Amino acid sequence: MWQPAERYPDPAIEALDASFERYRLFNAAVERLYTGCRWSEGPVWFGDARHLLWSDIPNNRILKWDEETGAVAPYRAPSGYANGNTRDRRGRLVTCEHGGRRVTRTEPDGSLTVLAESFDGKRLNSPNDVVVKSDGSIWFSDPVFGIAGHYEGERAESELPQHVYRLDPDAGTLEIVVEDLRGPNGLCFSPDESVLYIVESRAAPHRRILAYDVVGRGLSNQRVFIDAGPGGTPDGLRCDVDGNLWCGWGMGRDELDGVMVFNAGGRAIGRVRLPERCANLCFGGKARNRLFMAASRSLYALYINTQGVVGG
Ligand code: MG
Repeated sequence: MWQPAERYPDPAIEALDASFERYRLFNAAVERLYTGCRWSEGPVWFGDARHLLWSDIPNNRILKWDEETGAVAPYRAPSGYANGNTRDRRGRLVTCEHGGRRVTRTEPDGSLTVLAESFDGKRLNSPNDVVVKSDGSIWFSDPVFGIAGHYEGERAESELPQHVYRLDPDAGTLEIVVEDLRGPNGLCFSPDESVLYIVESRAAPHRRILAYDVVGRGLSNQRVFIDAGPGGTPDGLRCDVDGNLWCGWGMGRDELDGVMVFNAGGRAIGRVRLPERCANLCFGGKARNRLFMAASRSLYALYINTQGVVGG
């Protein structure tokens, strides 16, 4: 049975490089905010409401954790087997749904707007993760994970390759920005939005994180930013204001479970050990200095001495 650290500093927060020391608070520890999910993903912070939403995919629900009381309650059930969540630049919730094979936006009155569900007359696979650029464009990955079985969605035939898309929600235009990756998954922009990082979940022999230069509405100069190595399973990721990448990690070997942190040069500088594999994370709290980690059956949090990028 996992227990939070009783003494500071929390040994779960580990510097792999001296440059990580500045991000570690000596008197902050990993907290478990909730357990009881089947598979947690897609955390997103609502500072105005002081709550965090995240997806519990097999249970077909989005949960809400309240910062003031610590209470957890269903936010949306059924959720269409929702996976990745984020907010657009007007603060509206944007969600990837495996069940509906679509990306939706939740309006201020609570109604849903379908932003994307097909390309070239064919149904999307199962949108997985999503990020919104400062110009309002919505970038999302579309692997087949959510239509591969009946646990995180409903089994169905794929009609399209596994692309990454850019959606202009005002014009309603959907464009491919990366064609046919092997399991495109989490994605995020660097702080100045000059680089987009994309996790390739089914790359062989190892998972990897690709980096691209953002050029206008598209991407160029694909390169391998991180080779995750044997057993390394990055899924979702977010940047802090210094350009470090905080990546959900784990599976297969428990010593890998948690969060890996890489600097903008691709060097592993730190990690947060968790007792469960972490899929996705986000920054939250008033100063965006609290890391929320959606990890298998639980939700964890940790205050750190940096801030997430605005809009992450
Ligand atoms: Mg994902």
